[in-house]
Amino acid sequence: MPIDITQKLTGVIENEPMSRHTTYRIGGPAEFFYRTKTTDDLVKAIIAARQLQLPLFILGRGSNILVADKGIKGLVISVETTERTKNNNLVTVAAGAGLGEFVIWTINQGLAGLEFASGIPGTIGGAIRGNAGAFGSEMKEFVESVEVLTAGNRRTILSKSECAFGYRESVFKHSDDIILTATFKLRPGNKVESLALVDKYTKQRTAKQDYSIPSAGCVFVNPSGNPAAKLIDELGLKGTRIGDAQISSTHANFIINAGQAKASEVIKLIALIKEKVKEKYGIELHEEIHLVGF
Ligand SMILES: Cc1cc2nc3c(=O)[nH]c(=O)nc-3n(C[C@H](O)[C@H](O)[C@H](O)COP(=O)(O)OP(=O)(O)OC[C@H]3O[C@@H](n4cnc5c(N)ncnc54)[C@H](O)[C@@H]3O)c2cc1C
Repeated sequence: MPIDITQKLTGVIENEPMSRHTTYRIGGPAEFFYRTKTTDDLVKAIIAARQLQLPLFILGRGSNILVADKGIKGLVISVETTERTKNNNLVTVAAGAGLGEFVIWTINQGLAGLEFASGIPGTIGGAIRGNAGAFGSEMKEFVESVEVLTAGNRRTILSKSECAFGYRESVFKHSDDIILTATFKLRPGNKVESLALVDKYTKQRTAKQDYSIPSAGCVFVNPSGNPAAKLIDELGLKGTRIGDAQISSTHANFIINAGQAKASEVIKLIALIKEKVKEKYGIELHEEIHLVGF
């Protein structure tokens, strides 16, 4: 019998439903599933999977993915690392830290800048990969450098320019580098003002969309000059439903899971939106969410 990953890594679970690990509450089983709590263990797990030539998927909080109903082959590593250090205005944080919790931590350290990101429900790793943004700011504005494990299993530090950030873009969408930690350069802040800003942004967010309804946020990136939500709204598609997948009636760029939606139903709605937008405006929409296991 060839060695399998359960022999190389203690604590690997088999056939773990991904619906438990995505904000969509959708997704079939991961063949193998492993939680990492430290960066050293994350590195060890990635190397183990690569040595066995096992397909590998790196999971943050699952807030920007749609996992296929048939699940994911190979190993899913859930990155739950939270280590962090502070050196004056520079903070280095592990990829698995929750963005919202980290933002509050920076504010409590007397630092400002990341308030815009407090309501984005993912990890540092997911936010760096997608250069997450809100309220006119993006992660890239505050990134100093990113530590990665390269495809060749080397730990190295990339400068901000090597990360090639753009609108919901980075080098990490096009490479097998895995984000281990990120260093942010923040500015001295005022805790009361920062918390007031967080509060203001939270109110603005929840006015637009009910965050308790399962979704993966915006499905499409905005084509230049045209918010995707506006195009979808103008087509009268809000509220359109296939099975339990539904175009949100409050935010047209959200597809929600209104009950027991299947990934296949979300995919059908995505195809419908793309077709209608192309037909009416001649615009090709592209997914912001990462489709996994299709
Ligand atoms: C209600 C709601 C509101 C949202 N609002 C916003 C918003 O305002 N702005 C915004 O930009 N996004 C928003 N999002 C989308 C989402 O929260 C972000 O894209 C977030 O940054 C994803 O992080 P994650 O940890 O959940 O990533 P996941 O969904 O787990 O993964 C996303 C991708 O990143 C990869 N990845 C994760 N960690 C790593 C790592 N360490 N190294 C390499 N690759 C990695 C995964 O493999 C996958 O390809 C929203 C989502 C929801 C559900």
